[in-house]
Amino acid sequence: MLQTIDVGLVVLDSEYRINVWNSFMENHSGLRPHVVKDRVLFEVFKEIPEEWFKHKTQSVFLLKNRTFTTWEQRPFLFRFKNYRPITGTEEFMYQNITITPLVSPNGEVQNICLIIYDVTDIASNRRQLEAANSKLEKLSRIDRLTQLNNRGYWEEQLVKEYQRVKRTNEASTLIMFDIDHFKKVNDTYGHPAGDEVIRVVSAALRDTMRSTDIAGRYGGEEFSVILVNTDGKNAMNFAERLRTRIENLEVTHEGRDIRFTISLGLAELDKKIKDHKEWIERADTALYASKQGGRNRATTYEK
Ligand code: GH3
Ligand code: MG
Ligand code: MG
Repeated sequence: MLQTIDVGLVVLDSEYRINVWNSFMENHSGLRPHVVKDRVLFEVFKEIPEEWFKHKTQSVFLLKNRTFTTWEQRPFLFRFKNYRPITGTEEFMYQNITITPLVSPNGEVQNICLIIYDVTDIASNRRQLEAANSKLEKLSRIDRLTQLNNRGYWEEQLVKEYQRVKRTNEASTLIMFDIDHFKKVNDTYGHPAGDEVIRVVSAALRDTMRSTDIAGRYGGEEFSVILVNTDGKNAMNFAERLRTRIENLEVTHEGRDIRFTISLGLAELDKKIKDHKEWIERADTALYASKQGGRNRATTYEK
C-alpha cells in the first residue's frame, strides 16, 4: 500500500539517511530506491536547506512531535517538475509535508517519516486568484481612457500627500486643469475625437511631470496633478510648460486637425489650509480665474 498511494513517503534515520523511498518518490525524482538507500538526504537533494531542515526536524526527534511545512511557507522540499496538464503554468510541484516521529519499542525516535503531498493544483489556483485580485485592484484605481489614476484613488493619494506635508513641512503644489471649450471639440469633430484629445492631453501630462508626481483624471475633461516637493513658483514653470506644450499640439482625427488649449489653477499647500478639500477648492478657484481671464492660461490662488 505504501508503494502505490499517491503521496510521497520517505523514512529517514537520525543521520538523515534515506531508509524508505516509495514509488511516488521514485517516479517524480527518477531515482530508484536502491540508488538513494542509505544515502544522506542533503547529498542527494542539494536543494534541501540542511540547516533549516535539521532545525525543523529536531523537535520530531527529541520531543516526538509531529510537524508540518506548507507550500505557503516553502513551495517545495524536493524540486520535482510539475507534469500536470491542467496546472501546466507551474514549473514545479508545490508540496505540503508532514513529518512524523516513528517511535521504536524502547520509546526512542530513531526514524522520522516524511509524507509529501502534491498540492500544485491548490497552490496554482490560489496564485492565479491572487494575481487576478491584484490586477483587479489595480484596474479599479486606473481610469480606462487615460490610464491615469481615477478620481477616487487620486483623492486618496491627495489625502496622504496633505498629511505628509503637514508633518514634514515640505513644499507641495496642486494643479487642477480643464480643457477649454471642450464641448465644441465634441460638437465639431465628434465624441471619439474628443476622447482622443483627452488621451493626448493625458499623455502630455505624463510626459511633462516627474515620476513622483501624482496625476489623476478628476472628471470628464478635468485633470489634477500633485507636484510633490514643488513650491508655487516652480509649479508655475511646470504649468506654463504643460500649457504651451498642449497649445502646440495637433490631433489628427479622420483627416481633420484639431487644436486645443487648457486652463490651469495652482494652489501651494500652506498652513492655513485646513483639509485636502480646501486645497482642491483653492486650485479650483484659481482655475475659474483662468477661465474668466480668457482661458489658455495658468493662475495661482491668492486670497
Ligand atoms: P470650458 O472652457 O468652460 O471648460 O468649456 P467646456 O466646453 O470645456 O466645458 P463644459 O464643462 O461645459 O463641457 C465639458 C464637456 O466634456 C461636456 C462633456 O460632454 C464632455 N466630456 C466629458 N467627458 C468626456 C469624455 O470622456 N469624452 C468626451 N469625448 N467628452 C467628454
Ligand atoms: Mg470641465
Ligand atoms: Mg472644459
